[in-house]
Amino acid sequence: MGPMVRAAVAGLPVYRPGRPAPLGPGGVSYKLSSNENPFPPLPGVIEAAEIACAQLNRYPDMGNVAMTEALSAKLAVAEDRLAFGTGSVAVLYHLLQAFCERGDEVVYAWRSFEAYPIAVQLTGATPVPVPLGPGWTHDLDALRAAVTPATKAVLLCTPNNPTGPALRHDDVLAFVAAVPDRVLVVIDEAYAEFVTDPAAVRPMEITAGHDNVVLLRTFSKAYGLAGLRVGFCVAAAPIARAVRAAALPFGVSVPAQAAVIASLAAEEALFERVGQIVAERERMVAGLSSAGFDIPAAEGNFVWLAAGPRTQSYADTFAAAGVMVRPYVSGDRWDGLRITVGEPEANDLVLLTAADLER
Ligand SMILES: *Cc1c(COP(=O)(O)O)cnc(C)c1O
Repeated sequence: MGPMVRAAVAGLPVYRPGRPAPLGPGGVSYKLSSNENPFPPLPGVIEAAEIACAQLNRYPDMGNVAMTEALSAKLAVAEDRLAFGTGSVAVLYHLLQAFCERGDEVVYAWRSFEAYPIAVQLTGATPVPVPLGPGWTHDLDALRAAVTPATKAVLLCTPNNPTGPALRHDDVLAFVAAVPDRVLVVIDEAYAEFVTDPAAVRPMEITAGHDNVVLLRTFSKAYGLAGLRVGFCVAAAPIARAVRAAALPFGVSVPAQAAVIASLAAEEALFERVGQIVAERERMVAGLSSAGFDIPAAEGNFVWLAAGPRTQSYADTFAAAGVMVRPYVSGDRWDGLRITVGEPEANDLVLLTAADLER
C-alpha cells in the first residue's frame, strides 16, 4: 500500500467548476455558471499587467507593499488589518488553517458557497451546516443556536451564493453581539459591490468595532479579475497577521498585484459597470417573476431559480439553448439553478428559454 491520504482529504467533497456551454441553435453560447463578470478588465488594467510582465523573472513583492498601500488608502483601513491571497477562497483557507484543527467546529449556512465544506474539512475541523431559513436566506437564530464551546468560526455569506439575499446590518450586529468573542465571525462579501438593499450589512463598520469579525472580499467578481486570483481580508491586526503567516509565500503574482493597483484607480468605470449589471439583474428578476417563478432577493450578480426536482431538466433545457447555468442537484429541497447575470444577449436568451420551461 502506498502513502495514505489524510482522512479529512480523502473525504472531501469535489468542487465542480462551471462548464462551458455547448453551442446553442444560434451558433453562440454563454457561460452563466461561474458568476463571472461579462466585462473585460477595467480600463488600464491589462496595460498595467502587461508592463508588470516585464518583471516575470523576479518574484513578486512578498509583502504586497504597493497593493496594500493602495487598498488601505481606498478603504481607509490600516495596512496591518489587511491580508491578501490568491482569491478570497485562498484567504479563507489560510484563515481557517490558522485557527482551526481537529475537534473544532465551523458553522455555516447551507445551501451556501460550495468551497466552505472543503475549506473546513481540510483543516480537520468539523463542518456544521445549518439549513437556510425562509426566503432562501441565513437563519441567524439557528446559526447562533448551533454555536457550541467547540465552535471556532461562523461563516456568513452575504449576498448568499447561490441563493442571492443579503443579510441585514441590524441582524448581523445582533448576531455578533450574541456570539462569544472567542468565535471568529467571517463575513464573506464576494458580491459586495452589487448590493443595492440599503438595509444590507456593512461589514466594514462591524469589523472596525469587533476584533473577532473578519471580512472577505475579492477582485474576481465586480472587478472582473477572476483569472488573476486576488482576494483579501479585513480583520483585527493579529488575525490579519495569522492569515499572512499561513499564506503561501509570494502567492499574489507580479501581474496580479499590478492589475489590482490599476483596478483600484478605475473606480468610476467599476461603478458604471456594476450599475449595468445590477440593471440587468433587475430585468432578469422581473422577467422570471412575471414568467411565474418565485425569485428570492437577488443582491449579487446572479439569480436563483428554485427548481427543486426539475433542476437538472431545466439545466439541460438552458444548455440546449446555448446557456450554461449552474445546477445544484442533491435530491434535497434546496436544489435549484444559479444563473449569472451576463451580457444583455445572454440574459435575453435566459428569459426567452425560461418562459417555455415546463412547470
Ligand atoms: C466567487 C466567490 C468568492 C471568491 O472567490 P475567489 O477565490 O476570490 O475567486 C468567495 N466567496 C464566495 C461566496 C464566492 O461566490
